[in-house]
Order: sequence, then structure tokens, then C-alpha cells
Amino acid sequence: MSAYGFDVTDRQAAEEKFRNLVETINDWVWEVDTQGVYTYSSPKVKDLFGYEPEEIVGTSCLALMRDDEERGRIRDTFERIVEAEEPFGGLRNVCRHKDGTEITVETAGTPIFDPEGRLVGYRGVDRDITDRVIAEDELRESRDFIENLVQSSVDGILAYDRRMRYTVWNPGMEKISGVRKDQVIGKSALEVFPFLRDIGEDRLMVRALEGETTTATDRHYSIPETGHEGFFEARYSPLRSQSGKIIGGLGVIRDTTEQKQAERAVRESEERFRQLAENIRQVFYVMAADLSKVLYVSPAYEEVWGRSCQSVYENPRSWIESVVEEDRGWLMEAIRSRASGEIREGKLPPYRITLPDGRLRWIQARSVAIKDESGKVTRLAGVAEDVTEGKRAEEERERLMELLEAKNKELQSVVYIASHDLRSPLVNIYGFGRQLAENCDELSKLMQEAGSNEDAKGRILPLLEEDIPQAVSFIRCGADKMQKVIDGLLKISRVGTARITISQLDMNSIMSDIVEAMGYEIRQRGAEVVVEELPGCAGDRDQIDQAFSNLLNNAVKYLHPERKGLIKIWGRREGPMSVYCVEDNGLGIPPEHQDRVFEIFHRVDPTSGVAGDGLGLSIVSRILDRHNGRIWLESEPGEGSKFFVALPAT
Ligand code: ADP
Repeated sequence: MSAYGFDVTDRQAAEEKFRNLVETINDWVWEVDTQGVYTYSSPKVKDLFGYEPEEIVGTSCLALMRDDEERGRIRDTFERIVEAEEPFGGLRNVCRHKDGTEITVETAGTPIFDPEGRLVGYRGVDRDITDRVIAEDELRESRDFIENLVQSSVDGILAYDRRMRYTVWNPGMEKISGVRKDQVIGKSALEVFPFLRDIGEDRLMVRALEGETTTATDRHYSIPETGHEGFFEARYSPLRSQSGKIIGGLGVIRDTTEQKQAERAVRESEERFRQLAENIRQVFYVMAADLSKVLYVSPAYEEVWGRSCQSVYENPRSWIESVVEEDRGWLMEAIRSRASGEIREGKLPPYRITLPDGRLRWIQARSVAIKDESGKVTRLAGVAEDVTEGKRAEEERERLMELLEAKNKELQSVVYIASHDLRSPLVNIYGFGRQLAENCDELSKLMQEAGSNEDAKGRILPLLEEDIPQAVSFIRCGADKMQKVIDGLLKISRVGTARITISQLDMNSIMSDIVEAMGYEIRQRGAEVVVEELPGCAGDRDQIDQAFSNLLNNAVKYLHPERKGLIKIWGRREGPMSVYCVEDNGLGIPPEHQDRVFEIFHRVDPTSGVAGDGLGLSIVSRILDRHNGRIWLESEPGEGSKFFVALPAT
């Protein structure tokens, strides 16, 4: 260090002053020559770089630089400064401390001239700004981070100044509004979006400028220019400068349109569910899979179970405790198999519960296992309904069916026994009738031979020749009729009791046998019989043969005397049944007889002289009953009849 143009004392004083100054200030004071070699170093260098001033003086300032790159940069700068011979400041350079750590310093310097005005070096200070640089870096990083956050946020982020002009409009805002950043930045919020005033949003924005943080939910937006419409949620807060002064407002906007729609959909479906669950007569329930908790039970529970819903929420086992002892075990088993996911869905067999007043009630439930994404059953839902009435009706029907069957059997045995038992007295009536007739004959012969008492003769003879024979013939007639009835009843009862063997029947072959067997009668009547291709059916060969024989027999018997008889037999498949028709162009049956011809002994015209016992159709009808079949007819008196027979198809 050197000073020029002072006398020695002055110089010493000045130097003293300078030394004091440089040693008290915090910065490192130095002097270099035009080559950048230190010619003076204040002791502060020790604090700054860890060197003693003596170590520094005589070395190049470039030696302190962190690396070659920094050295190169500073060398160029220094050369330019020296060339310009001007003061400089704010020169940032990164140096290395004696211990190797990096130190960033800011350097300022002024040129030193000799009395001739030639530049001899520079004098200046280095200030340690390492901490500041770190702080600045951190600040920049955090700014970048915030900027990134703002840019990538799905939420809309906006900022505005004190005059409500937008200063920030992130991509989130662009997406929500459909309005680009360049269309809003610098413009007043109300100018760009007049609707903000209508929904009172401007007041919230202003309140942020007044220092308040406000939030708003369920705000409706509609931007006619972009067609964007929906709901949003907003939060406004004041934006402050470092000094704490409010310089604007910050808004974070979240589009809640989808959420609102989803919420609405959930609400609506919940409402629909609630209405349904609360109005149906069935009990709807949702339980935890381990049955430890009833999550929901519809109000119908109170009516069906006769207990409050509250009671089952409080004691989830109470509903199962009301199930009768006998049903409880298997029911729990069935429910468990659903809860374990073995069975997913299905009807449970009906079970019984006891009402608080002791009455029994039948319940029919359907239960579904609800699984989570991993396939684990988490809930059991179901519907249970009171089927007591149906169950009772079913029981009643079963009881009646059993009764009917028993009665039928009883009736059959009555008919059988009665007809059998009636036979022996009939034999007697016949026998004695015959004997009486013979006795009368003999008596009348004897009377003629005797020939004595004319008076007695006159009274006995009419008895013997008229009254008694007439009575005898009445006895015989009655007995004949009785015989017929008995035979008929037996015939009918045999149809009901005969063993039947169901097999697949080829109706074409059966029918051709029947037609052949009746060939004589058919020819006698000069009739024509046409048999079409017939579908097969399931039945007992003998009984089906008999049924169709009876029908064909009737068709031939009741042909019209005045026209050529034509009998057609045809058939077709109808769903599970084979339907056959025996069709004739005969006498036909008057409507009032059409149902009755199937009754036992009923004949349309018993006096017509056509032979018959009125049993043929009753037998057919019984046979069809036993085959789960059906018979019905269509007939036009004077035109003809069609007898339809339906039998299970093969
Ligand atoms: P039956 O022929 O022995 O009298 P059915 O039970 O077979 O007894 O028939 C009952 C009555 O139905 C017959 O008497 C007859 O009047 C009437 N009938 C049955 N089949 C025919 C037919 N194909 N055409 C007209 N009448 C019929």
C-alpha cells in the first residue's frame, strides 16, 4: 500500500486512520497491482479465506478462485476493468477458503493512479455473500417450486391485484373456464367474467384485498363464450408483499361439477332406495358378513317380525333368536355359506319365526353376498317376506289333495265292492225270477189239466197268464238294467285301478291296428277313414288303444244315415303335448250335451236304437286323466264332431 503527496506525519496519521478503518469494518480490504497481484491485505482475510495477510500479499487474486473456469472468467473481467481504468462493483466471484470450502464474495474496487495519472493498481473490498447466495438459491428454488405447483395444479389458481386485475391464471383455471391466460391477464375480473357479480363472487375477492380469507362452496358458473358451465368451490386470501402490505388476492378454485353430479346421483339413488325400501312390504336388510352388525333394516321389519327396528340394531342376533328352534340351525348354516362366499345369491328355504305374541309366521328370504374388490364378502344383503298366507294355502292345498286322493281310493273301492256285492243278489233275483216263471208255467199247465173248478180257474188264470209273467218280466228287465250298471261301474273302476306302464307310443301303428280291427263296421257303414301322419306320445299302450278305439267306434256309430261317412284322424305337436283329433261328418252333438257326454251313462238319445252303454267317453276321459292328458270336443249338430285329445309328447 502506498500513499502519495502527503508529508510523513500526515501520511502516518492517514495510514493509521485507514488501518483503523479497514480493521474495524467487516469487509476484506485489499490492494492489487495492474496484474492482479495483492500488494496489501487487511487482516480480515483470515476470517474470509483462512489466510494470514502475509500469505496473500504477493499472490495473484486469481489464485483464490474456486476453479479454472472461474479463474478464466475473472481474468477476462479484470483485464477489461484495467483497460477501462474505471471503478467497478458488484463483481461476484466464487473463491475457495484455505480449508477447501466455497466462498462467494462480492468485489468492488477503485483504480489507483500515480501522480502522473498512470494506473498502478486497484484498491477495493471483498464482502462475503455466501449466505446471501445460498438464500437466493433457496428462494429461486422455492419460487420455481411454487411456479411448478401453480402450473401443474388441477385446481385453478388465480391472483389479482388491488384493482382486481388478474395477474396469475394457471392451466387449471384455463381448463375450468375454457378461457386462456392471455385473455385474462391484466384485465379486470368483472370485465372478463360479469357473472361473478351476479353470484356475489366479487365481494369475496374484495374481502381478500381487505385482509380476510373467505371460502365459498356450491358456486354456479356459466361462461357463455366457452360454453363451460358447472359448479366450483373457491377460497380467496390476501396476497401480501414482503413488508406485509396487501398487494392483491389469491384464489384457489376447484371444479366440483362432477362431484356435485356424483353426489346428486348418490342422493337420488339413495332417495329412490329409501322410498323403495320403506314402502315395500318386504323387509330389506344389510348386515356385516359376520352377522355381528345390522347396518340397515327397512321399516317393514316392525310389521313382519313384530319387533322394533331399533331392537335389531341394538341386538343384531335378535332376529335370528326369533326363528323357531328347529329352523335356526340349518338357517344359520345356509346364511354362513353365503357369508363365506360359497353361494353368492339365492333363495333360502322358508323358515318360521315366533312373534312376540307367540304366533308363528313363515318367512321367505333371498340373500346376496356383497364382495369388495378383493373378492372378500363384506356384507350380506337380502329381502325377507312374510309368506305365511301362501304357505298356509299350500298346506291347505296339500291337505285337500291328500284328502281327495283318499276319497278317490275310497270311492273306487266302494264302487268295486258295491258292484261285486250287488252281483250275488242279482244272481238270486235272476235265479228266482227264472224259477218263478217256470213255476208259473207248470202251475198253468196243472190248472188246465185239473179243469174242474171253473170259478177258481177264472181267477187264477189271469194271474198266471198275465199278472205274474208281467211282474216276472219287470224283474228281469230291472235285473238286466242293474247288471248293465254294475258291469259299467266295474269297467270304469278297472280303468282307474289297472296298472299302467308308460312308454313311447308310435301312434301311426296303433291307429292303423285300430282301424283294421274295426274294418267290418267301417265297411258296413260304407264309410271312409283317413289317417294322417301322427306324432308320437307317452302313454300306456292298452289304455291309449282303448281310448282311441272308443272314439273311432263312436265316430262310426254316430255317422249320419243320409250321407257317406268320412272320418279323419290327424294330429300335431303343440308345445310339450301331442294333440290328436278324431273328426267325423256325422250327427253332431247339441251344445247342451257337449259337456255331459263325458259323464257316466250319459247318452244324447237313448232311444235312437244305436247300441251303447253311455260309458265310452267316460272311460276315455278317465284314461286321459291318468295320463295327464285332456279331452275336449267341438261339434255342430247335423254337421259332425271333432274330438280332441292332448297327451304328453315324446
Ligand atoms: P255310447 O256311445 O255308448 O252311448 P259314449 O260315452 O261313447 O257312450 O258316448 C256318449 C254319447 O255321446 C253317445 O251316446 C252319443 O250320443 C254321443 N256321441 C259320442 N260320440 C259321438 C259322435 N262322434 N257323434 C255324435 N254323438 C256322439
